[in-house]
Amino acid sequence: MIIKDLPQGDEIAQIRQSVRRLCDSFAPDYWRRLDREKIYPSQFVKALQDAGYLSVLIPEEYGGSGLPLSAAAAILEEVQRAGANGAACHAQMYIMGALLRHGSEAQKRKYLPLIASGELRLQAFGVTEPTSGTDTTSIKTFARREGDVYVINGQKVWTSRAEFSDLMLLLARTTPKAEAPKRTGGMSVFIVDMREALKSGMTIKPIHTMMNHSTTEVFFDDVRVAAENRIGEEGEGFRYILSGMNAERILIAAECIGDAKWFVEKAAAYASERIVFGRPIGQNQGVQFPIARAYAQTRAAELMVHQATSLYEAGEDCGEQANTAKMLAAEAAWAAAEACVQTHGGFGFAEEYDIERKFRETRLYQVAPISTNLILSYLSEHVLGMPRSY
Ligand SMILES: Cc1cc2nc3c(=O)[nH]c(=O)nc-3n(C[C@H](O)[C@H](O)[C@H](O)COP(=O)(O)OP(=O)(O)OC[C@H]3O[C@@H](n4cnc5c(N)ncnc54)[C@H](O)[C@@H]3O)c2cc1C
Repeated sequence: MIIKDLPQGDEIAQIRQSVRRLCDSFAPDYWRRLDREKIYPSQFVKALQDAGYLSVLIPEEYGGSGLPLSAAAAILEEVQRAGANGAACHAQMYIMGALLRHGSEAQKRKYLPLIASGELRLQAFGVTEPTSGTDTTSIKTFARREGDVYVINGQKVWTSRAEFSDLMLLLARTTPKAEAPKRTGGMSVFIVDMREALKSGMTIKPIHTMMNHSTTEVFFDDVRVAAENRIGEEGEGFRYILSGMNAERILIAAECIGDAKWFVEKAAAYASERIVFGRPIGQNQGVQFPIARAYAQTRAAELMVHQATSLYEAGEDCGEQANTAKMLAAEAAWAAAEACVQTHGGFGFAEEYDIERKFRETRLYQVAPISTNLILSYLSEHVLGMPRSY
């Protein structure tokens, strides 16, 4: 590898080494075939799960390894850096944070050990809806209380991995927006057992996208969920979801850093070996500079990811840093992807080089889980004190 790891201590270095080894056992051909046939990488996800990587953030008392966020970030970065795709399973790491922080002791004892052992998959996160988009407070999916159950009706969109998850973390309205005490109130979070729900009113419809992402639409038609599956207080769901956003931003940013390093290394190697006009193309500064610039962007974004992670681990507010890290890392990955395609010329478009696949995959992170505009809007309003725009 050309790009050296920044110093983060022995434990993280060892994690990086073993994730690299695991990823090496999945040859590029595995990812190409899955991408071509739009198949979920079950075998890879199982390997990560069995090695304990998907439960690093679950405390030891619930069967996980109780490691800090930096360990999870290193794992996801290495997955992407190896040319693999962590989108198949990254959500479990941040979704279960809502359960961990706001769930009751009984809920934690019921679910976390089974998630840690891999017997239960918590990979589906149902927030976005077709008509609300980024404006989450306008969601319409409604959970109506009837005695000991909630009856849920509505629709989610872009619910990734729903077909490959046993549980879904669902945000639904429990009070109509017009009657809620405040704009962000009146929503609640539920753990929906999809194995049960699919037998009684839940339908999942896959959405085909430009990359292999296993995303879906999910319809709720009188789906009954036990009231004991509500996390925390009724009406406080939006706050619980928000409390997990910083971890989500940091982990996605780490993935983007992994992507960026993969592209930069691939581009630099090819630029050094491809001979045109009797000399390596990388001898031309017109070829070198976009790669070097993407590298510099990657390193700067990486420092921001590390700063956000340190603040998060110290229990300090890191909204500014986590959002900034996510934006800069997604942009660095995209700059590196561009440079890599350009450096490879026509071969950048050939499936066997893996670049076109990674190029499609990394584009997502400027849109989801939060789009760049919304990050800029956050920084404008909450950090720079400019007027709220929406
Ligand atoms: C492949 C994929 C997987 C996903 N997985 C999940 C998942 O598992 N769970 C889930 O809940 N969601 C998921 N999402 C949804 C994702 O979080 C949203 O797509 C994203 O938040 C943007 O919402 P939207 O697509 O509705 O865009 P819109 O809200 O319709 O916005 C469209 C564009 O307008 C811009 N815009 C909107 N409002 C403003 C404003 N006020 N100021 C400036 N610009 C604005 C946005 O930045 C964006 O560029 C996924 C999306 C994709 C594509």
